[in-house]
Amino acid sequence: MTPSGLTTTDVQIAIVGAGFSGLGAAIKLAQNGFTDYVVLDRGADFGGTWRDNTYPGAACDVPSNLYSYSFAPNPAWSRTYSHQAEIHRYINEVANRHDIAAHTRFRTEVLDARWNEEQLQWLIDIETDGVRTQIRAAILIGGVGPLCEPNLPDIDGIESFGGAIVHSARWDHDYDYAGKRIAVIGTGASAIQIVPEVAKIAGHLDVYQRTAPWIIPRAERPYTTVEHLAFRYLPGYQKLSRGLIYSASEAVAFGMTYAPAALKPVELLCKANIARGISDAGLRRAVTPEYRVGCKRILKSNEWYPALARDNVELVTNPIASVTPHGIVTADGTEREVDVIVVATGFHVTDSPVFARIVGADGRSLAQVWAQRGMQGYKGSFVHGFPNLMLLIGPSTGLGHTSMVYMIESQLNYLVSYLKTVRAQAITRTDVRPDAQDAYNAFIQQRLRRSVWLGGGCASWYKDAHGNVTTLWPGFTFDFRRRTRHFDSAAYDVSRAIPGAAPARLLPRTDASATL
Ligand code: NAP
Repeated sequence: MTPSGLTTTDVQIAIVGAGFSGLGAAIKLAQNGFTDYVVLDRGADFGGTWRDNTYPGAACDVPSNLYSYSFAPNPAWSRTYSHQAEIHRYINEVANRHDIAAHTRFRTEVLDARWNEEQLQWLIDIETDGVRTQIRAAILIGGVGPLCEPNLPDIDGIESFGGAIVHSARWDHDYDYAGKRIAVIGTGASAIQIVPEVAKIAGHLDVYQRTAPWIIPRAERPYTTVEHLAFRYLPGYQKLSRGLIYSASEAVAFGMTYAPAALKPVELLCKANIARGISDAGLRRAVTPEYRVGCKRILKSNEWYPALARDNVELVTNPIASVTPHGIVTADGTEREVDVIVVATGFHVTDSPVFARIVGADGRSLAQVWAQRGMQGYKGSFVHGFPNLMLLIGPSTGLGHTSMVYMIESQLNYLVSYLKTVRAQAITRTDVRPDAQDAYNAFIQQRLRRSVWLGGGCASWYKDAHGNVTTLWPGFTFDFRRRTRHFDSAAYDVSRAIPGAAPARLLPRTDASATL
């Protein structure tokens, strides 16, 4: 029990999040003999963003043969680009295969995670089905993902709207959209998947575009029986497909990071996509972006432009001024009445509310530390002042061109190497040295100098409030893989257990009645 009466459970490692990253961490832990861990997730099953984003048309714009764990290939992918339900199913199948549910507490929200210097532990207050308890863990792994906290637009009067408001990541499946007047705010990766589906059933659909996205066609098709057989029975065939997709994507990383002008052919491909989907010259102009391709995420769709050209769809480019009880008013004074507003306005990425719940050695939260300096860390994994905390998809690990699962797996290599070092050397406390973190961030910012994300002439969620790109890995992903192959203890201040003390479980169970 804690002094405040909470039941306490001690574990060696606590993982927050049961999406691709948290689940991957749990599997790697189990495979490497770290069996004393718990996974905490506020949802009811595995999947993270692929569980939460159930909007119509939800799919992944990275081909499935690459957007999957390398250690769990799926020969049954139904198509080149999988839909949300199939990816969600895949993640749960992998979790079941490794029996991770036995270590997982679902419907569990982390309210507060606080480093305790005397106990050398993270004290993690959680709530499961309304019951508060505490977990004490020597090591905390954050696998919450950057795209989990919906960003609701701060538009004048929006709280007065009398109809329904639905965020893309919290789709309301009970609402009957058929025949309704619908507004979609946003034209990002989520909106371009939602709009073509919703347009098919809407009475009328207004699409509010603030910035036109660059969109290339999607080479989407179902896999044939022959391909399925080859994936299953022809050794190396699916791996080869994965390798080819990976290599083609890395070429884009070169353009984005070092030579934005080299992306010109991509712009031409996007313009051809516009020409194919829209015949009206005015509409074509309205959807043609005015910044460099790659500055924001390059989107993929064959259906977006034809959807905008439909008779029941209007693209609104005049800025939104306010929302009234009945509809949306644009800067030119026009009010368009609607029954439901779909906000496909993205996520709190650099200002996630989760950051306020993680409190480090000096009593400051990640939110406070990062508000001052921007989102910074070391190899996307450790942050000075937050001992024994490893973040998955932490600062400077995001991508605009290929599969995040590849980056996650690089971090999982780093995690396993870190844990093996901790185990072998009886380490009780690890904190990345400030000079190592500063040097790493100087290198990241130097790499970004010529990048399209800084010089491409756009505003994007890749940048934080200071105007720095703190979300993306600049460069080739195999470079990140190389840098995270081994835990480099020299970059860390470490403390070791007193000789003779038990190093692996850094604190014995103190509450024998507590169960996971
Ligand atoms: P997003 O890319 O951040 O797009 C948000 C959209 O809402 C943008 O068009 C933005 O306009 C607009 N917006 C935001 N606030 C607004 C306001 N107050 N008024 C008017 N418009 C506003 O969000 P998302 O589409 O949800 O995608 C987020 C990320 O999720 C993606 O970048 C991607 O990494 C991931 N994602 C991936 C897939 C996939 O297929 N793999 C699918 C969906 C999402 P501006 O452009 O002007 O800011």
